[in-house]
Amino acid sequence: MDLYKPFIQNERQKKLVDLAGELADAFSKRGEVYDREDRFPYENFNDLKKSGYGKLSLPKEYGGEEITLYELVMIQERLATGDAATALSIGWHLGGLMEVTETRTWDEGIFKELCEEIVTNNALINRAATEPATGSPTRGGLPQTKAVKTEDGWMVTGRKSFTSMARVLDYSLVSAVIGDTEEKGFFLVNHSMEGVSVEETWDTISMKGTGSDDLVLTNVRLPASSLVERDSTTSIGNVLPKAWLLHIPACYIGAAVAARNYAIQFAKDYSPNSLPGPIKDVPEVQRKIGEIELELFKARQILYSVADKWVREPAKRADMASELASVKHVVTNSVFHIVDTAMRIVGSQSLFRSNPMQRYYRDVRAGLHNPPMDDMVIGMLANNALK
Ligand SMILES: Cc1cc2nc3c(=O)[nH]c(=O)nc-3n(C[C@H](O)[C@H](O)[C@H](O)COP(=O)(O)OP(=O)(O)OC[C@H]3O[C@@H](n4cnc5c(N)ncnc54)[C@H](O)[C@@H]3O)c2cc1C
Repeated sequence: MDLYKPFIQNERQKKLVDLAGELADAFSKRGEVYDREDRFPYENFNDLKKSGYGKLSLPKEYGGEEITLYELVMIQERLATGDAATALSIGWHLGGLMEVTETRTWDEGIFKELCEEIVTNNALINRAATEPATGSPTRGGLPQTKAVKTEDGWMVTGRKSFTSMARVLDYSLVSAVIGDTEEKGFFLVNHSMEGVSVEETWDTISMKGTGSDDLVLTNVRLPASSLVERDSTTSIGNVLPKAWLLHIPACYIGAAVAARNYAIQFAKDYSPNSLPGPIKDVPEVQRKIGEIELELFKARQILYSVADKWVREPAKRADMASELASVKHVVTNSVFHIVDTAMRIVGSQSLFRSNPMQRYYRDVRAGLHNPPMDDMVIGMLANNALK
């Protein structure tokens, strides 16, 4: 069954899903080796660049396709069926750019220049917002990275942890405290600048291929124009919730779909000599498959319906924060159940390092620690209810 058919609304979306599918199929062949050998998936990024995937969320007037949130989640889900780690990394790039494309809170000249770099040279960008002392920036901690005013701009010093795909980034949006204030801003940092380096600290069991290393900034001299977002101005210009973060649940559904596909194929193929045929005919295996389908249906319906509402009803966007957060909570918890049930179908083969199941199992775990975290979602819902 084509899992995307129920959600594809037009020919453009079909082409986009096909593009993501071609990339995903190439990635899935390499996933196991990258994971086992702890290698960064450079080849996947080369493929993404060759296909023009990184410019999809840019404005049309600057050479992009201006994909919608609905299209973003669909292609990211499909991409993640091949390799969730690469999908999450490129999701930060596409999603962050989608936000600027929609809100236009940056200086237009700077944004245009960045778009040119992406269209012409396939440049990659990500937000570097996490630090060991703050934990998740969504909890409100002030960064220890400082931007000091100089005669012609800024000098930025600090260390960022969890910077996905740091090794292949051309630009980062680095959060820092602005001068002597207590205000946070985001600085556009070109990685070829003096004082910018990457320390390969990413040694995890989950989403290994994101290479979410430390980004180190040592007295990096930036032009005045590099301060592209300030908390005070973005809160005036952009009151909308960060809907682009739906690329996160989309990515983890992709990993769950890969587990589901593997388990179904396994059930068709595995024929122990205690049975007359493959285990797909065993009622308990069929029950588990049905359970997976039901859970996947719930997770995908909620993801796609909320993304669709965002696209079709812009007037309601400002009130959608709790719906968007709830999608993240429901999906990232659903995918545990899907992957767990799929592993029970496959049995102990799912524990072998050469079997992709154990990678899906480890990868979906990371969804808990991407924003918004479960406790924040539940707190938000409770506050709304008690208002
Ligand atoms: C695969 C992956 C890729 C990532 N990529 C990026 C990236 O590209 N860029 C980036 O900036 N970040 C990235 N992150 C970082 C991510 O967004 C979080 O910032 C990071 O995971 C830190 O989360 P934490 O749970 O360790 O920290 P914390 O938020 O500190 O949470 C740890 C524990 O402390 C508790 N806690 C901490 N503070 C509070 C509080 N104020 N109130 C209540 N409880 C609190 C939490 O409940 C939790 O139990 C990535 C993370 C992962 C896993």
